[in-house]
Formats: sequence, structure tokens, C-alpha cells
Amino acid sequence: MKNNKVFWGDLHSHCNISYGDGKLSHAVHRASKQLDFCTITGHAFWPDISKINHLKSIKNYHLKGFQKLKKKWNKILIDLKKLEKKYIINIFPSYEWHSLEYGDHNVINKNFNFKLISGDNIDKLKKNISKDSFVIPHHIGYGKKQKRYKLGIF
Ligand SMILES: [Zn+2]
Repeated sequence: MKNNKVFWGDLHSHCNISYGDGKLSHAVHRASKQLDFCTITGHAFWPDISKINHLKSIKNYHLKGFQKLKKKWNKILIDLKKLEKKYIINIFPSYEWHSLEYGDHNVINKNFNFKLISGDNIDKLKKNISKDSFVIPHHIGYGKKQKRYKLGIF
């Protein structure tokens, strides 16, 4: 342990590359002021979104964000690579995969040629993504608690 170094990072940070707020460059700049590494996570997929039969505006909000991310993904990766050098911080490109049944998961990689890849369920997602990626869950699924959506907790 004597020669080990602790690295500080954030593996779940959003900005306006999908449906968040704030510029990508600002997110990286802010992270670089206090962290050794970060991800800037775009919202990308929600394969079971069709199971939501209400909350149409929220559904459309998410779908619009996913389209925005997919349309700009290659440019985002190029920008991240430049920002990594500019702000001297290790950046791990990442995206978020939503699921009512399995919960949300973030797919993270170190490569700037990282592809947006989904799966119909968590097992297919893990099978489909490149083998040098890792997946981090950040909350449980909602699928069996449909009544909670109707109460507006979602
Ligand atoms: Zn998130």
C-alpha cells in the first residue's frame, strides 16, 4: 500500500450532450479542477421505454435526448479526446442505458472510438458491448413497481 496512489474520479456525470444541461467543455473543465479522471455520460438507450403508457412528455424528452447523442456521438468523442489533453484529465467515454426492468447502467470505456451499442436486456447489453468496456449499475429496476410511476415518483 505504501507505493499506491489514490486517484479521484467521477464515473457518472451529465451535460447537454443528450438531455442534460451545461456544455461538454465546461463539464470537463470543472472535473479537471479536482479529479484525476471522469466520464461525461450521454443518455443513449431505453429498450423497454415502450412499456410506459403514460408520461408521454417525459418519454419524448428522453427519446429526443437519445437522438441528439447518437447524431453527435462521433464529434463528442473527438471533442473528449481534445478536452482530455487540454485540461489534463483522464476521460472515459460513456453512455447510459436505461431499463425499467433492470435499472439504469452506464457503459464505460477508455477508447475514443467507442461505439454506442445497446441490447434488449442487461444480458444482451453485456454480450453486445466491446469486451474492454465495463458496466456500472446506478439504480435498481422499476418494472415490478408500475404503481410508483403513476404516483409520480419517477
Ligand atoms: Zn445518469
